Amino acid sequence: MKVLNVEIKDLKHNINIIKKYLNLCHENENVPKIIGVVKANGYGLDLVKFSRFLVNEGIDILAVSSVEEAIELRENDINTEILLLAGTSDKEELEELLKNNIILTISSFEDLNSLKEIVENNKGNSKTNIKVHLKIDTGFNRYGFKYEEIEHLADELKKCDFLKIEGIFSHFSYAYSKKEDYTRKQFEEFRKIIKKLNELGIDAKIKHICNSSAFVKYPEFHLDAVRIGSGFLGRLQIENEIGFKKVGTFISKISEIKKVKKNEFIGYSNSERAKKDMTIAIIPAGYSDGVNFGKQNDTFKLIDKIRILKNSFEDIFKDKHLYVFVKNYKCRVVGKVGMNHTVIDITGKDIKIGDKVEFNISPLNISDKVRREYS
Ligand SMILES: *Cc1c(COP(=O)(O)O)cnc(C)c1O
Repeated sequence: MKVLNVEIKDLKHNINIIKKYLNLCHENENVPKIIGVVKANGYGLDLVKFSRFLVNEGIDILAVSSVEEAIELRENDINTEILLLAGTSDKEELEELLKNNIILTISSFEDLNSLKEIVENNKGNSKTNIKVHLKIDTGFNRYGFKYEEIEHLADELKKCDFLKIEGIFSHFSYAYSKKEDYTRKQFEEFRKIIKKLNELGIDAKIKHICNSSAFVKYPEFHLDAVRIGSGFLGRLQIENEIGFKKVGTFISKISEIKKVKKNEFIGYSNSERAKKDMTIAIIPAGYSDGVNFGKQNDTFKLIDKIRILKNSFEDIFKDKHLYVFVKNYKCRVVGKVGMNHTVIDITGKDIKIGDKVEFNISPLNISDKVRREYS
């Protein structure tokens, strides 16, 4: 048995905290909108289930990072506004997005040209008021237009009367850092670019730049909307200042228990040798489910061996072992995690076959094949 449990109560709590914080930060002003980011299979909570949940809680714009995610939402009758956060110049993708009424991101001149060609080829039956957001690069150096391109961009946009520019946005690269300089610099750059666009006659009603960390740390940067993903799960890279609860627990059950004598080996590669007589328990979940994701020492290049040595050294001092929780016991994972099995040390603990096991793993790492249960 294995399942990723999504705690409805805690998820609602987090959504309410986000709303309250927005209201608190913007008394007597327009309260920014919440854009619910549901990329990466809804941060592991299941794209469709998570999106439905957010929509039921009043989140009326969702954002995804791939065309496939956008289409999957439409195929499952999610009819809210959906913003694709990435640009594309692929005409097949663009046609598909338009057909499904997805809000596009224009991130490069190539994106704009492809869209223009599609509209021109469909004369007579051509779309107007195509909703787009413009992506601005303020220092991430991934997607978007830079300051130097703004004049050219404005010229091009003016030729595209089929566009409805609804949003202008950018993304912080380091908002979770304690050092604020770079984030503040990025925000200033964003302001400068918006001002320039305005001077050139381009504006949009929704300007947005904050992800969850920036949302918590920089209320003054909220603008017209905030893009929240990890905040819903209470899993931010910054200190939990506003009382989020962690959402998403991977659960399995003990399937077998056995005694091991001192000096016996446990598991693949004989990776663990009992230092004493032990009682161990087997859990039918392993790395194919996402347990111990990325922590396997199974490469053989010299550099990896050095890294493993270093990590083992750190293990001794920092206790980086993997642990699971059974009832109120914290139990150490013993030996290598297998593809479908994990072994834990339960020596001296009152643990039985069938007892529930909780793993402390981010839902993002849990295999999409594991069932998600909202309860
Ligand atoms: C993932 C993503 C977000 C959400 O980030 P969180 O820190 O998880 O809230 C916002 N904007 C963009 C462009 C993203 O890619």
